[in-house]
Amino acid sequence: MVQQTDIDAAVRDSHIPAAKHWIGGKQVDASDGNVMANTSPIDGKPLGALARGTHEDIDRAVASARAAYEDGRWSGMAPAARKKILHRVADLIEQHLVELAVLGVRDNGTEISMALKAEPGSASATFRYYAETCDKVNGDIAPTPPGTLGLVHRESVGVVGAIVPWNFPLMIGAWKLAPALAMGNSVVLKPAEVASLSLLRLVELCHEAGLPDGVLNVVTGEGRAVGEALGLHNDVDVLLFTGSGGVGRRLLEYSARSNLKRVYLELGGKSASVVFDDYGNLGKAAKVSAGGIFRDSGQVCVAGSRLLVQRSIYEPFLDALKTEAEAMIVGNPLDLRTTAGAIASETQCGSILAKIDRAQSDGARMVTGGGRILSETGGTYIAPTIFADVDPRSDLAQEEVFGPVVGVIPFDDEDQAVALANSTVYGLAAGVWTDNLSRAHRMVRALKAGVVHVNTYGGPDVTVPLTGHGQSGNGSDKSMHALEKVTKLKTAWMALD
Ligand code: NAD
Repeated sequence: MVQQTDIDAAVRDSHIPAAKHWIGGKQVDASDGNVMANTSPIDGKPLGALARGTHEDIDRAVASARAAYEDGRWSGMAPAARKKILHRVADLIEQHLVELAVLGVRDNGTEISMALKAEPGSASATFRYYAETCDKVNGDIAPTPPGTLGLVHRESVGVVGAIVPWNFPLMIGAWKLAPALAMGNSVVLKPAEVASLSLLRLVELCHEAGLPDGVLNVVTGEGRAVGEALGLHNDVDVLLFTGSGGVGRRLLEYSARSNLKRVYLELGGKSASVVFDDYGNLGKAAKVSAGGIFRDSGQVCVAGSRLLVQRSIYEPFLDALKTEAEAMIVGNPLDLRTTAGAIASETQCGSILAKIDRAQSDGARMVTGGGRILSETGGTYIAPTIFADVDPRSDLAQEEVFGPVVGVIPFDDEDQAVALANSTVYGLAAGVWTDNLSRAHRMVRALKAGVVHVNTYGGPDVTVPLTGHGQSGNGSDKSMHALEKVTKLKTAWMALD
C-alpha cells in the first residue's frame, strides 16, 4: 500500500527526463536543437522541457524503426525471448511504480490515488497480458479440399506509428506499445505535448529491460509538426491513435495523401448513464456516477458526462449527486486524499469554462460548481459542475467537454431513455442502473456504445476490448482483439499432389 510519505519522497527525488527524443536506442536532440517549455498544471511552474521535434526527426525515427524491423533483431527474435523482455518491462514498471505515477501526475495533474492504479498499474498489467501473447498467437489451417493445403499466417505489419493524448499517457501508451511489440513490430511513438515525461521514462525502462535499440523510438513535440509528419510518412504501415475526432479526421486524410496506411482511431465520447427507478440503491448510483464524471476532473474518454434519470426519482437523485459532487476533494493531485486533480493545461481549462458559460446561456440549470477554483495555487482547477434540465439538443448534451461537467436529463420510460442515450454522434461508453435483469440485457443490446456498464461505471480491465462505435472510432484497444490492428494475414495455398 503506497503511503503519502512514499509520494513525498518520490517528488523530492524525482528525476525529470532530458529534453531529448529516443531514436535508435539513444537520447538525441531535435534536428535543429530546439526545445519547448513544459509546465505543471499543479502550480503553473516549469517542469523540465521537451525536444521540439521536426519532420527530419520523424524521418530519422522511422528509418531507425524500419532498419530494426528489417534486420530481425526483434521481429525475428524467438517469441519466447520477446515475451521474457516484455515481462521484464512489466517488472520494471512495478519496481518504479511510484516514481512513474508521480512524474505523470506532475505533468498532467491526474490525482495520484487514481494515477497509481490507472497509469503504471494498468501499464504493467497491459505489458504482462501482451507478453503472454508472444508465444500464443497461432495461424490457421483452412478446411480445404483434398489435394490442397491452405495455411493462414498472422504476420507483424512492420513500422507502427502511435500518437497518444495527454490523459493517461502510460495506460494508453501501453495499450498501443505492448500489442505492437508483442507481435514483433517496431514503433515510433509521439506523446502529447503536455504529457510526455512519464512515457519518456517508460521508454528508458524498456531499453533497460533489453528491448533492442531502434525497436521503440519516441519523438516529442507539437502535433501539427511531429504528428503530421508521422501521419504522412510513406514508410509507416499502421497508425494507432487516441485523441480527438478533429485530429482523427486529419490522420485519415494524411493516410489518403500518402501510402494508404491503416489508421485506427480511439476518439471521444458523450457517454450516457441511464438510472431507472427500479434500481434499489440510489445512493450507490449517485456516488459511482459522480466518480464516473468527476474523477480525473472529467478528463476521461469514457466519462459518464450525461446522466439520464427516470422522472420519478429525478429530484432525489439530483440531491444525492450534488452531495457527492460537493464531497469531491479537488486540489493538489500529489495528495493521496485528493479525488479530483488539476485540468491538464490552461488551454483545456479555458475550453471547459467556455462550455460551462455556453450551457448557462442555453438555459441549463446549474446545480453546483460552475467555475475555476484554487487560482491562488497557480494551477488549473475547476469545481465539479452539475447542470440539470439540460436540453438534449444543446451543445452540453451533444459535445464532449472533457472536464468535470455533467448534464442531467429526465426521461419517462425505457424507449425514451434509449432514444436519448443514442442521440449523439458518439458511441464510446454507456451505463445502466436497474435491478431488472431483462431490462439490463435489453438496454445492453439497445445502447450504441462500445462498452455498457451495468450497475457500475468504469473499471473494465485489459481482458476486454474498448471499441468506439459511431464517431468514437474504429478498431479496439485492449484484449486479444487489439492484435488485429498490429498484424496482417497471409495465405499460403499449396498443391499437395
Ligand atoms: P488531441 O486530438 O488534441 O491530441 C492527441 C494527440 O494528437 C497529441 O499527441 C497531439 O499532439 C496529436 N496531434 C495534434 N494535432 C495533430 C495533427 N494535426 N496531426 C497529428 N497529430 C496531432 O487530443 P487530446 O486533447 O490530447 O486528448 C483528449 C481527447 O482524446 C478527447 O477527445 C478524448 O475523448 C480522447 N480520448 C479517447 C480515448 C479512447 O480510448 N477512445 C482515450 C483517451 C482520450
